Amino acid sequence: MEKRETDVCIAGGGPAGMLAGLLLARLGVKVLVLEQHADFEREYRGEVLMPRFIQLMKQVQLFEAVDALPHTRIAGMVLWRNDTLLARVEMARFSPGVPFAYWIPQPPLLRGLHEIAKRYPSFDLWFGADARELLRDGSGAVAGVRGKKGGADFEVRARVTVAADGRTSRLRREAKSEMAYEFYDFDVLWFSLPRPPEFEQTVHFHLTPAWSYLVAPKHPDLIQIGLMAKPGQFARMRSAGIEALRASLARGGALLAGFARQVQDFQAFHPLQARVALAKQWAQDGFLLIGDAAHTCSPAGAIGVSIAVETAAVAAGVIAKALQSGDCSANALGEVQRIRDGAVRGIHDRQRRLAALMLSPNPLVKFLQPVLLPIAAKLGLPQRLPAGMLVADPPVPLDPIVMKG
Ligand SMILES: Cc1cc2nc3c(=O)[nH]c(=O)nc-3n(C[C@H](O)[C@H](O)[C@H](O)COP(=O)(O)OP(=O)(O)OC[C@H]3O[C@@H](n4cnc5c(N)ncnc54)[C@H](O)[C@@H]3O)c2cc1C
Repeated sequence: MEKRETDVCIAGGGPAGMLAGLLLARLGVKVLVLEQHADFEREYRGEVLMPRFIQLMKQVQLFEAVDALPHTRIAGMVLWRNDTLLARVEMARFSPGVPFAYWIPQPPLLRGLHEIAKRYPSFDLWFGADARELLRDGSGAVAGVRGKKGGADFEVRARVTVAADGRTSRLRREAKSEMAYEFYDFDVLWFSLPRPPEFEQTVHFHLTPAWSYLVAPKHPDLIQIGLMAKPGQFARMRSAGIEALRASLARGGALLAGFARQVQDFQAFHPLQARVALAKQWAQDGFLLIGDAAHTCSPAGAIGVSIAVETAAVAAGVIAKALQSGDCSANALGEVQRIRDGAVRGIHDRQRRLAALMLSPNPLVKFLQPVLLPIAAKLGLPQRLPAGMLVADPPVPLDPIVMKG
């Protein structure tokens, strides 16, 4: 069995795990990241990165590295009801410091973070390493993980073990960590199309009698469309067959109608369950949940990656201090949750209210939507609503040690 001892073992090489690993290694902490997949390849995952992501990258002195990655800049959002333009929101209006979002596919983002992390001798990453169970010492504190790599067992002993293994976190289950709440409000069905030549490089929200959907420019020359569906609706559509879906797409405006004529089967769709979830207790002795494992965001606002990396950056500071002081107890590591809990709950609350507005099954809301939305647009609500979600105001409180390049 392969054995390793380290200061920090991070299970999960997604945005949260990679950023936490990089920042800790930059502070000279010995860190090992375990990623169950053989590489960073993945699609339809955290590709629109809102201004708060860029804000954080600036705080931790990584903006220039991220800016050098292949990306498409998105300067605004527009809201359509059928063919009527209801509102236009320029990012500059509510985010003057960072007046754009970025479209960066996750593979180059993660590869970019890995390239930087590799410059620090205390950083290591194992691909194809699946963390399966937590090791505990005599007092019950978490002391590392055991897992499988290339068919063989491995064991990593660490002073702090971090679960950054995503929304379905295995280590969260292993730690018997309970959820404070979990909501499943809607599904998003993603698919991509070639970008029409006249397409405006902005995020478009469309409300039609058949579908609510968003369209975003996908780097380098595609558009990505997300149809919002009620939980279970996709499964029902599948059993009704592709012709029924085609007919319903045909009623969703010109773009969807064009797609309806080409789509052959359900293979084109990548469904995502929009879940909002929060773990009750993020820390145990020697153990910490970060990113989606601690708090899963819904796709509303496209801020999942931002919220995940914000917690990762906070965690890097807290862990480094805990290692320095020799106190890696639940109380010391729990500082991450004390710093982040309120902000995350606020984001979740906004996401759920937004989803309720767009997809409410309440007949009264549905009936009033065509009247209320233009009024809301006139009152400037679409311009104000995103501010608290897409921008971190005030900025994420980071320990000064993680802000030094
Ligand atoms: C379809 C889809 C579209 C999305 N679109 C957006 C968007 O446009 N913008 C946005 O900001 N967010 C978006 N999100 C959310 C975003 O992807 C997540 O919030 C973000 O990736 C969370 O980062 P993370 O590092 O916490 O977890 P993840 O990105 O889930 O990373 C977890 C990592 O852990 C690894 N892992 C899992 N289990 C183990 C194990 N046992 N051992 C070792 N490794 C393990 C996984 O392979 C993975 O690499 C989207 C999510 C989905 C599913």
